[in-house]
Amino acid sequence: MFQPEIKRTSVTQKTNLSFEGDLIAEGKTKIIFATKKDPDKVHILSKDDITAGDGAKHDLIEGKATLATRTTCNVFRLLKASGIPVAFDEQIDEKTFLAPLCKMLPYEVVIRREAHGSYLKRMPGLTKGHLFPKLLIEFFLKTNGKMWKEHKLLCDDPFMEHSEAAGTISLFEPSKPFYGQQPFLVLKENEVFAAADESKRFEEIRKIARRTFLILEKAWQLEGRTLVDFKVEFGLTKNGALLLADVIDNDSWRVLENGAYIDKQAYRDGGKLDDVAAKYRHVAGITDRFRLPVQQVILWRGSEKDDVTSLVTALNQWSGNASGGNKSALTIHTATCSIHKEPVRGLNELHRLVQQVPDTVVIAFIGRSNGAGPTLSACTTVPVITVPASFKDFPEDVWSSLRTPSNVPVTTVLEPSNAAMAAIEILALRNPQLYMLLREQLEERLVNMTVL
Ligand code: C5P
Repeated sequence: MFQPEIKRTSVTQKTNLSFEGDLIAEGKTKIIFATKKDPDKVHILSKDDITAGDGAKHDLIEGKATLATRTTCNVFRLLKASGIPVAFDEQIDEKTFLAPLCKMLPYEVVIRREAHGSYLKRMPGLTKGHLFPKLLIEFFLKTNGKMWKEHKLLCDDPFMEHSEAAGTISLFEPSKPFYGQQPFLVLKENEVFAAADESKRFEEIRKIARRTFLILEKAWQLEGRTLVDFKVEFGLTKNGALLLADVIDNDSWRVLENGAYIDKQAYRDGGKLDDVAAKYRHVAGITDRFRLPVQQVILWRGSEKDDVTSLVTALNQWSGNASGGNKSALTIHTATCSIHKEPVRGLNELHRLVQQVPDTVVIAFIGRSNGAGPTLSACTTVPVITVPASFKDFPEDVWSSLRTPSNVPVTTVLEPSNAAMAAIEILALRNPQLYMLLREQLEERLVNMTVL
């Protein structure tokens, strides 16, 4: 049955909230309440608690709840805008946000760009910070009290390996070297999965987790810091939709600033509580700036006869539709003007469009001679990519795009789809959503040089 267990204790929290809702669950760092108005929504309230080592270390940091909610809401707003299915509706007050009610799946999904933390214990031969060009994705089974149902475990949150062929889930100790380690317990699928088709969700979970990491990786890059790993969790709505759920806050990731952690690792490593609190404040402040930029591609054609359909199709593939149907902040504007015939009108139009959206790339798709690409490039500071559209019939036309005067840095690309991708790569330098779409495709082809 869908309904998560609701403990029928009515609790009034000391928050600004005026509701008195049923407590659904309480964890180390947050409390989930039912909402009065809508049975399919919950309030997620952060607490001031900070813990490490499965609760072995525990402290209170005044104000942490506010910083955690602020960080999670900043992160979830960016993810939602980027098309990630996130269990997040809106921030309610400084410690609380509203989310769809989810039945949580019992997995912690960890993604790593670099080797840190428990990974180094499993792979002691690697140096800290070892880079994975292809993201690593790991699953851990969420457990409590070293028990899974009636099974005694050697440790909580074991590393899990699912074998579809064998129909089993093998559990390993995450803090011991992998080489030579045998699973301490092998469970049948039906001992772990609540639904028979649960493992079918794993591919979707990996995809959403990978996309989420890539979006946040770029968001952190833009702030001059490095996201090296994170943990996320997933839930199913009443209708069976898979959502990235729970929270992503400064407890969930490792972020480096000038080589030092600015996340919970500082607490795990024994940092003073005041210093830890300062890092949480610092991180919440940085995430306030997480957003998608407003960007534009201008498709410049010399006449109505220049058929830009293939370019538009290629650009649409990147402009947000591919990321879950969300409208992206990228607009594609088609401008039609022969720079030979109407240079003044054309350049005025160029300056007007770039004034409106300064973060722009121009693609000039011109049927004959193509003086437009180099001329537009000479008259603006935004990148101009030129496509000599008739190069198959008139290959000599290519020279008017290639041998340009000084200070005319136009880029010439023959294939429209490559021109579109080149424009997207330029915009992706400042756009977490576009970076995610590009990098996701690339990572499918990448191979890590570490033997796992
Ligand atoms: O400890 P480990 O290296 O496996 O952690 C990987 C990432 O997952 C880190 O960013 C850590 O903060 C996060 N994590 C978490 N909750 C856990 C375990 C790990 O947020 N229970």
